[in-house]
Parts: sequence; structure tokens; C-alpha cells
Amino acid sequence: MKTWKEKKTIYAETFSLHFRAIKIWWKISPMIFISKSISAIYFALIPYIGIYISALFINELSNQRRPEELKNLVLLSLISALIIAVIDGIIQKWKEFYDNEYYYKKEKIFTNKLLDMDFCDIDDQKTHDKLSQIKQNENWNNSGIGKVLGMTEEILGSLFGIIGSITLSISLFIKKVPENNISMQYLSNPLFLIFIVAVMFVVIILSPLCHNKAYSFLMNNDFVENIKYTNRLYLFYYLEMISYSRAADVRIYHQNEYSISKLNESVSSYNLLYPIYKKKYAPMNSLSVAIGFILTAIIYLFVCLKAWAGAFGIGSVTQYISAITLLSHSLSKLLQTLGEMHNNTPYLKTVFEFLDIPHNMYKGSLTIEKRNDRKYEIEFRNVSFQYPNTNTYALRHVNMKFKIGQRLAVVGENGSGKTTFIKLLCRLYDPTEGEILLNGINIQKYNYNEYMSIFSIIFQDFKLLSFSLAENIAISTKYNESRVLKCLESAGFSERLKTLKKGIDTCLYKDFDDKGIEISGGEAQKIAIARTLYKDSPFIILDEPTAALDPIAEYEIYSKFNEIVDDKTAIYISHRLSSCRFCNEIAVFDNGTIIQQGSHDSLMNHKDGKYYKLWHAQAQYYTE
Ligand code: ADP
Repeated sequence: MKTWKEKKTIYAETFSLHFRAIKIWWKISPMIFISKSISAIYFALIPYIGIYISALFINELSNQRRPEELKNLVLLSLISALIIAVIDGIIQKWKEFYDNEYYYKKEKIFTNKLLDMDFCDIDDQKTHDKLSQIKQNENWNNSGIGKVLGMTEEILGSLFGIIGSITLSISLFIKKVPENNISMQYLSNPLFLIFIVAVMFVVIILSPLCHNKAYSFLMNNDFVENIKYTNRLYLFYYLEMISYSRAADVRIYHQNEYSISKLNESVSSYNLLYPIYKKKYAPMNSLSVAIGFILTAIIYLFVCLKAWAGAFGIGSVTQYISAITLLSHSLSKLLQTLGEMHNNTPYLKTVFEFLDIPHNMYKGSLTIEKRNDRKYEIEFRNVSFQYPNTNTYALRHVNMKFKIGQRLAVVGENGSGKTTFIKLLCRLYDPTEGEILLNGINIQKYNYNEYMSIFSIIFQDFKLLSFSLAENIAISTKYNESRVLKCLESAGFSERLKTLKKGIDTCLYKDFDDKGIEISGGEAQKIAIARTLYKDSPFIILDEPTAALDPIAEYEIYSKFNEIVDDKTAIYISHRLSSCRFCNEIAVFDNGTIIQQGSHDSLMNHKDGKYYKLWHAQAQYYTE
């Protein structure tokens, strides 16, 4: 059993997390929030207008029956029904309009965070695990930040429902039994009234408590884990298995049958739940319903007795019964939603663990001098680096100075640290030790985006977008057509371009255009090179640029390399030594350190050096 202090802390946490979630929704889409809140309040109060007018009507009919008064009441009913119907329609549509945005706005909360995150956190598996946990929780029982909107709607609806009910039923407790009815005076006794109200509250609180208790039986750990696992399988089966990249494997190895059997196995373990359902959930839930009936019985008895004693007319009987029934409904709903809030807290915590991933990367403010002569000098000074959550160094004591306009090749076996070296250079990561300097100043002191803008890079796993060829190159809807054509030509894409009817307006892939084209790895690489050229940055970096190219296309790139690079400083990464010979400087990486540096000829002179050995080891794969 938790102590009161512990409970208080849990409730405080529940409210503060939900309040924070509400503030996020308010910031991301105030209109979704406003439309939901107003419609919840409106629909909570509307029933009371009907109840009140009907009571007036019945009272008049059963008492004085004044024609003028009855006519006015009919008119009031009709006019109010008309106004309510019109406002109903408007509010419903208004809310629906903003509801349509709900999914995108919810995703925006996570997308904004992902786009804003330091690269090292995006590169961290833990970040993706957290996000996929959040998505699974959403798919499983809609828990998390999305649920907060629905709960706010429920809470506002319940609160205003309670206010409406109390307003309409307060006179039930105030109206006195006529003095001549002595035997029934106890109904007006304040102690009796307090007793009735207390019983009502106990019942109203007990019913949802039983309901929540019943629900908690279903939430035992094994079951929750099983549901999560099954949901992951569902997602995998219905989204991943149908993906294009798996299509061939699925057909050849009948992976669909294998996966569905795993899914069925997991689904059938739901059967484990039936005994809990039968023995615990069902009786507790029935108790909750039965307690609710006790309340209705008490209200009927009390109202009827008071009417019988002459405290009010028949019309008021319907008013009080309806109002108090609605009060009990609103109170139950409120308590149930508060229970749901409590259940939603762990899921919200996961959401905030993700949203609170801190920015650790220092982002300076120095501007980068725009130089027409492109005289940017970069120096690695004793740089070492460990990837987060690893114990080994991916780079160790790297010292290197780039000379302006140099063609530098970075070579070495797979895993020797070449890509890591580039990631540090572009500030996707910061060094663990040492520093990197641009024109003598630590790169961390520069404005991050400006620093990024001096590099054009093609990573090994670059991605093109499913938009037009021209937009892929300019990364903008507005572009200079002749420059796009020139870059495509320099990258060796001209021949393929001639075969495209819509030229540079041709869409890549078919995601957004049925007439979009599929392209080979080599063609994609040429487009990526054209994109690099269009950016026209002082540094151009190509990470294994010819890996996906056939020998002819590879030769084309080499022969055009000087034209492509022009007056830029170029860094060319490859584990294929033959493709680096044309660079005037070659750095050989091994186990995260630079073990040799120099021109091809000077490196070949060191017969016991790594470069010489690698060159001869690879010689069998190419002809000189
Ligand atoms: P190369 O480009 O020469 O193939 P990398 O720079 O990619 O080598 O890798 C250098 C070392 O760093 C390797 O041991 C690799 O396993 C490790 N490494 C690369 N990326 C990560 C990462 N995101 N997290 C942890 N270790 C990594």
C-alpha cells in the first residue's frame, strides 16, 4: 500500500505532466484545443436547457394550465430547439474541421523534435527505441500525448455537466415540504438532506473506483507485454512485410507464412486472459454497474417522496431526476477520466523522455567570412573520438591540415574511421578530445548552419527525394534551369536526361507521380553529384562515390573529377585505392589513426607501409 505522501507525489506528477502536454497542444495547435474545449462545454450544457423547459411545461400542464403561458412555453421550446440545432451543426463541423488536423499536428510534435535534435542523438539507437515505444503505446491503446486532448474534452464536459446538474437540482434540496404535512417534515430536515447527499457521493465515487479496479485486472504485466509484442508483430506484418525492399525475399522464402504464424501464435496467447476476465474483471465490473443502480434508486425515492409530500410539482420531478442522473453520469465520467490520467502518466513520461533529449552540442554565433577566393583552411588538432555509449575510440590522435584547393583522398579498410573523420569535419559530431579549427578558430564557435553551408557531401547512404529531378538538385521549388542542366551534365547525367520526356521536371520514383521514374544506383549517384555541384560550397566531400557505379560510369567520374571539383577543396573517401590515385594527397587510415600521408608515388616507395600492402592486395581486382 502506498502512503498518502507517495500518493500525493504521484497525483502531483500526473497533473503536472498532463498540464505540460496541454501546453504543448496549445502551442502546436490552439484551434484544435479551442474547438474541442468549446464543443465539450456546449454539448455538456445543452441537455439541461431541454430538461428545464420540459419541467416548466409539465408543471404548467399539471397545475394552472394557463393558455397564454402554455403558448409561450411551446414557442420557447421551438425557438430554443431551432437555435440549438443550428449551433450544434456549426460546432460539430467546426470541430470536425480541426479534428482532421489532429494526426498531423500530433506527428509534428515528434517531427519537430527529430529535426531539431543533435545528429549524435538521431544516430543513437536509444532515441529510435524510445520513439518506437511511443508509437506502439499510441497504437495499442491510444496512450500518450494524443490522449491528453480527448481527456481534456472529457474533463471539461464532465465539469460543466456537474455545474449544469447542480444548478438544476439545487432547488430539490431547498424546496420545503408544506408545513401542514407534519408526518413528512423529516424530508426537509438538514441532517436528512446531508445524509442523502453523502450516500449519493459515496455511491458516485465507488462505482468508477470499481470500474477502474476491474480494468486494472486486465493490465497485469504479462498481458501488457504480450499486447505490446503482438502490436509490434502486427505493425511488422502489415507495414514492413509489404514494403518493396522485402518483396523479393518474401516471395522466395515464403516469409509471409512464417510471420503470420508468429503473429497467430502471439494473438492466441490472449486466451490466457479469459480466466482473469471471467473471475476478476466481470464480477468487479458488474459491481460497478450495480452500485450505479443504487444511486438511481435513491434519487427516485427521494424526489418522489418530496413530490408526494407536496414540495414541488410533477414537472420538477422530471427535472430533478434527469439532472441528478446526469450529475451522477458526469461525476463518474470525471472520476473515470482522472483514473485514465493516472494510467496515462507512464506513457506521457516516455513521451517527455523523448522530447527532453537535451541539446548537448554547443552552437556558437560567429559568422563565417564569405570569401570569393574560397580560402578556408581546416585543421584537425590531436582529435580523438568515441561514439556515444561505446568504450572504444573510432578516431585517435588525428592531426591533419587541409591545404586550399587540395584534392585529398582518405583511404583505409572498412571500419578504419574514414566516415567518422568526415562526420567530425562537418560537425555532425564533436570530438571527444582535441579540436578542429577553421581559419584558426575552433569550429564550435561558428554559427552551426553557416558552418554546415561550406560543405557539400555525398554520403554512402545518401537519399534522393520523390520530387522532380530539378528540385532534387536545387533542394528548392525555385531553381536556375541552366545551372541545373550544367550540373547534370558535369555529373555525367546528360545521356539519360535526353531519354526523359519531361526533362528536369521528371519526377523521381512513383510516390507522388505515376509517371515518376525508377533510377539505378549509378544514376542516383550522378544526381547526388549534380546536387553537390549546385550547392557550390568551398568543400566537396565524396564518401565512396563510385561504390554503386559500373566501371564505365566510375571512369567517367574520375575523368571529370577535376572539372567537377574545380577550385574547391575536395575530400575523396574510398577503400578502393585505384580510385584515389589522381588525388595529390592521400591519408591512410588504420584503426582510427592516420598512419601514412603523402602522394601516391611517395607512399608506394614505402614497401613495408600499409598503402603499399593494400595496393597490392587490391591489385588483383583491377588492371592497371
Ligand atoms: P569507415 O568509414 O572507414 O568504414 P567508420 O568511420 O564508419 O569506418 O567506422 C569507424 C569505427 O566506428 C568502426 O569500428 C565502426 O564500427 C564504429 N562506428 C561507426 N559508426 C558508429 C556509430 N554510429 N556508433 C558506434 N560506433 C560506430
